[in-house]
Amino acid sequence: MKTKAIVPPKLADPCNQDVKIKAQKVILGFKKEVVEFIIRLRILRIVLRHFKNPLKVLKILKTLDSNRRKISGPGRVNKFIKINGRYFWNLYIPGSNSLAFDRFFEGEINRISPILKKTNRFSNIFIAFTKKCPLKCEHCFEWDVINKKEKLRLNDIQTIIKKFQLKGVAQVQITGGEPMLRVDDIVEMVQSSHNVTDFWVLTSGFNLTYANAQKLKLAGLTGVVISLDHFDPDRHNMFRGYKNSYQWVEEAVKNSIDSNLVTALSICVTKSFVSESNLMRYAELAKKLGVSFVQVLEPKSLGHYSGKNVQLPPDQEKILEEFFLKMNFDKRFRDFPIITYHGYYQRRVGCFGAGNRHLYIDTDGDIHPCPFCPAKAGNALEDSLDYSLPVLQSKGCQLYNDTNIR
Ligand code: SF4
Repeated sequence: MKTKAIVPPKLADPCNQDVKIKAQKVILGFKKEVVEFIIRLRILRIVLRHFKNPLKVLKILKTLDSNRRKISGPGRVNKFIKINGRYFWNLYIPGSNSLAFDRFFEGEINRISPILKKTNRFSNIFIAFTKKCPLKCEHCFEWDVINKKEKLRLNDIQTIIKKFQLKGVAQVQITGGEPMLRVDDIVEMVQSSHNVTDFWVLTSGFNLTYANAQKLKLAGLTGVVISLDHFDPDRHNMFRGYKNSYQWVEEAVKNSIDSNLVTALSICVTKSFVSESNLMRYAELAKKLGVSFVQVLEPKSLGHYSGKNVQLPPDQEKILEEFFLKMNFDKRFRDFPIITYHGYYQRRVGCFGAGNRHLYIDTDGDIHPCPFCPAKAGNALEDSLDYSLPVLQSKGCQLYNDTNIR
């Protein structure tokens, strides 16, 4: 059943106006070394909480470091983003100085050598907050359910989040549909649940007005990931199926940064987009917009792309890997946003979805390996997680089955 048409909010500025955006605070050089040392001390303290044998402690620290290199690339972290006294360097690791950070590392330590605490299973979960959306994106993985009747009420979602918090989840990514259509519900949920978990909103930029960004920040939201699929406004608008969507992105980025939310862009890189020069033009724009992170997603043949051959060929994967390494480890690009590219580690160490480190809960509460692999393994509201999670894990990830960092 279709719901009423969605009316986009009035935009503050006309399309051709230059939106002035300030950048988020980047920590480099000697300050970065000091911050890194303090973060390493905090991780050491977490390890010492669970292990006393110095050899064991050393082994765990070395394995943590070796896993980081396999996942994030061979170099050292070369910058931090400072927001509200917390330091961020990876989109999927909670910022330092927080319970969410400690939970994350307890989970990673537990994988190397089991600790007594039982609640340390997940790094993050994605939860789809609504089926409603005003856009018609080329790559939409929720295409078949968009604007159908809603099933989950706020208290259902709160129940689900609580279940996963008891399993130790460190981060929750709120997605959709367009989650900002339920901004008041998000505010209420984050207010009641953010103490031990970081919450992020994944949005097209729709309805991320300054007032809404402020409300989310005050509620305790950590950050926002805004989809921008091309540096060219017309190409982005065409990809998203809506004439003002590029303008939403610009304004959403500004409002998010002005509200002191960690701010990231996310791009679905298509065959026609991937080239060294296009990626650099996108990175230049991301830097100009002042965001801290850019997430690069590869297209998958599902949803609106179902039946289409959208998978990138190996030479384009190579271009993306080179771009990822160059931007994150070459000193010349230290003042650019940090790049997140899942394809890099997925091809080396396997996928972290399917209940290994993360999973996806759709708009009916059904649990799937990740947003891009629909394969129901129980319902997060109705079933016990102790039943659903082993089912999910036994099925594993269909694409990258051989996860070798447990
Ligand atoms: S990808 Fe997201 S923003 Fe685009 S149509 Fe689908 S749900 Fe809406």
